[in-house]
Amino acid sequence: MSFSSQGFSSDIVRALTECHYEKLTPIQQQAIPQIRRGNDILAHAQTGTGKTAAFSLPIIQQIIDKPKSLTRGSVRGLVLAPTRELADQIANNIKSFSKYTNISVVAVYGGAKMSSQERKLQAGVDILVATPGRLNEHLELGNVNLTNLESLVFDEADRMLDMGFINAIRTIMAGVSTHPQTMMFSATSSSQMNALAQEYLRKPQRIIVNAENSTASTVAHVVYPVEEERKRELLSELIGKKNWKQVLVFVNYKETANDVVNELKLDGINAVLCHGDKKQSARRRALEEFKTGKARVLVATDVAARGLDIQGLPHVVNYDMPFLAEDYVHRIGRTGRAGQQGHAVSFVSRKEELTLVQVEKLIQHRIRRVPLEGYEVDSRDALLSKMHSKPAFKNRQSRTNNANDQSSAESRLRVMQALKKRAKK
Ligand code: AMP
Repeated sequence: MSFSSQGFSSDIVRALTECHYEKLTPIQQQAIPQIRRGNDILAHAQTGTGKTAAFSLPIIQQIIDKPKSLTRGSVRGLVLAPTRELADQIANNIKSFSKYTNISVVAVYGGAKMSSQERKLQAGVDILVATPGRLNEHLELGNVNLTNLESLVFDEADRMLDMGFINAIRTIMAGVSTHPQTMMFSATSSSQMNALAQEYLRKPQRIIVNAENSTASTVAHVVYPVEEERKRELLSELIGKKNWKQVLVFVNYKETANDVVNELKLDGINAVLCHGDKKQSARRRALEEFKTGKARVLVATDVAARGLDIQGLPHVVNYDMPFLAEDYVHRIGRTGRAGQQGHAVSFVSRKEELTLVQVEKLIQHRIRRVPLEGYEVDSRDALLSKMHSKPAFKNRQSRTNNANDQSSAESRLRVMQALKKRAKK
């Protein structure tokens, strides 16, 4: 299905052609006609399915169809997103789609100067992309008002709830006096999500791309069981041996991110960092280096990586399993985008096996375990049995030319048994 068949103006179609968008993705096929009819939407679609164009193209077209002069601080379309990276990315996408129109697009988010955002908001904007916290600051200062709002999008609504934005959302919604057409997008579903939908959507059309809470079907998932302390070594080895060219690595802690990057660098692999302690400008630079191929690996924490748009990313590695099974879906959304084949690798230590089971329940799919030679998780037991079968070890046990040997062999055995017991616990 082509974009011109959806009744989009030639200015939009021309811009889409430049973005190499030719056919609609499944979410676009389902959502665009519904949004064009004016319906509210509740869509379950993971990142990477093309949802940004799905909600923004109809909004752009509506603004073209009904030109209005903007009043001070007014907004016609509002997109709420959980993180600055995602807000920035959405705004950039909308700017590309509307480059042949005179639609104004502004992004506001925390961590950037209020004053420059204030200036951009003054004359009013056609489409505002915002994180909830920063939008509230601008609302309080009277820099922006939502009294003329026509369209409203909650993007990654589940993530906004996870990040505790519910009160900020309520405050924002209190200032919305019109009944804007409302679209809610989420990769996962939960009772809190459903409650939010019930509160703000009117007779929404439900759209589900793939099964709920599933990951893109073009992603090949694999689990490598590995001891925690050997993950760094394994990562370097895989990247080197398999000659992976562009790898996004997820870790749970900033400290781990720093350690992994240092370790990779020691192995001569160019890696960059993206975590919450890094300034926005540093994160952008890292992303740019990664995108352009200057850096082969980007090591990121969940919040910092949220919403990163890296087209055609071939490999995502869960160096740590995420704390929340839902985050697996979000992380994996970085690969296998818009119909391309992706590769999702998870390093799973013994203590992360439970999370793996939860992930499998969520995505309704058993992930293939591939034990790697030399990285066996039971390596302590394996090592012990190997040692017992080695002649050197046997000889050592049977040596009696030293009076102390017998007792030291016994004490070694006791240590081994204790080790074995601990490993079983
Ligand atoms: P999104 O889910 O909106 O983040 O989009 C995921 C990726 O797919 C982005 O890199 C988009 O530029 C790309 N994309 C979205 N729609 C299409 C389309 N119809 N054809 C080709 N690529 C697309």
